[in-house]
Amino acid sequence: MIHDDRFNRLASLKIMGSIMSATTAFSTVPSMSAIPITNKPIRIRKSTNKMIKEIETSVWQTPLIDTHEHLLEEHERLSANPQLVRCDDWTLVMSMYLDSDIFTAGMPQETWNQFFSMKVDPIDKWSLLAPYWLAIKNTGYGQAVSITIKELYGVEELSKKTIKTVQQKYEETRGHGFYKRILRDLANIESCQVNCLNRPFSETTMPTLLMQDLSIWGMHAGPNFKQFGEPTGIKIDSLSDWHQVISWWFAKYGKYATAVKSQHAYNRNIDYEKISADEAAPIFKKRIEEQTLTSKEQKALEDHLFWFAVERATELNLPVKLHTGYHAGHGYMPLSRLLQNPGSATDLCRMAPDTNFIFMHICYPYYEELISIAKHYPNAYVDMCWAWIINPIAAKDFLKKYLVSAPANKILTFGGDYVQVETVLGHSNIARHGISLALSELVKEGWFKLDDALELINPIMNGNARRIFNLKEKSALLKTVQWN
Ligand SMILES: [Zn+2]
Repeated sequence: MIHDDRFNRLASLKIMGSIMSATTAFSTVPSMSAIPITNKPIRIRKSTNKMIKEIETSVWQTPLIDTHEHLLEEHERLSANPQLVRCDDWTLVMSMYLDSDIFTAGMPQETWNQFFSMKVDPIDKWSLLAPYWLAIKNTGYGQAVSITIKELYGVEELSKKTIKTVQQKYEETRGHGFYKRILRDLANIESCQVNCLNRPFSETTMPTLLMQDLSIWGMHAGPNFKQFGEPTGIKIDSLSDWHQVISWWFAKYGKYATAVKSQHAYNRNIDYEKISADEAAPIFKKRIEEQTLTSKEQKALEDHLFWFAVERATELNLPVKLHTGYHAGHGYMPLSRLLQNPGSATDLCRMAPDTNFIFMHICYPYYEELISIAKHYPNAYVDMCWAWIINPIAAKDFLKKYLVSAPANKILTFGGDYVQVETVLGHSNIARHGISLALSELVKEGWFKLDDALELINPIMNGNARRIFNLKEKSALLKTVQWN
């Protein structure tokens, strides 16, 4: 059985240990509902291991819809093109995101460059990592890698002794068909939603497995003349030409896209004001003449273009996915600006009540704020993508709190957020573990009946995604798509 098998393997990673200790702890501490307020305490719901097993079994058997990835096309990955694939050895499974923890744990830049270099013998790379491994192997990023290595390569622990096997298994695994094997067969993922990083939309060779989001980032940020303008062949002399460029992308790919996506929050806050075309046109003119814009002008131009793109998305019934919160990488995140994301998110919800906004990554670390937004605004949705590995316990707590605060039909519980496919497996295991734990705790603490927990599993793991992104209709269309 898939569940038992996988669960046993997980147990060996000591994750089971944490479930068991939590179980023991719970059986000795009365739940909230069991705290006596009279002399006759009434135990409303009884926690049993059988109950936990039932939730776990269901969570581990239920297919996930993965609502956010940056996966390369399989053929691009196999091309080992250095522009796309940083290194083609076992360290690649660490290149996103564990590379950041390795750096912040203290690995010098020079060593770090060598570690991810194509030119260093993969076997020699272990000695570069060894001094830092203990410090990073238990973070969410680290656990996603460890679980992947265990599940995919059958190696219990990364070490000097096992590194040869890891490298050998890396090479054996990475080959034709490995995307399907990892995503569908091992991670039980029905479909992914990919935000391609090399181009605005990818004409994928696996359209029903790797569904695609249309990037609107370069439509409004910059804007990006080269990446978004050039493929259209439209000559850009004025703002209305750029409007045509944006419309071109929507006309060409809108019906195939699952959503639109912008990670502009890496550059600035998401405080987009409605700026008219009359106001934006002279600024755009300056931009194409390569004159320097003031920061106020730059903001006004981006604000105008953001709303122009969002309106096109809304016309096509495409949800708008926005990065919020934590920044990938290391050494540059301005937390004081991120703190403003939730407040600005509420402004967007008010300004465009017909647009469905999907706020990504639980706006970590400001996730309580995001729960209040989803509770208050009908057009606010939350995607837990990436969150399970940024901080697995915060993600579990988030899910628990979300489910007792905001409508359960607006939460999406998994997105691997990876460029390399391997670690989607490790990340999905952490998510399944966290989802089971959140639901079990809600039952054990007396907030949910067992049936309440069980009936939410399908909606939060796949049903919500299917509905929010019209996946039935999109899949039917994508089955027969012939890209030009
Ligand atoms: Zn992402």
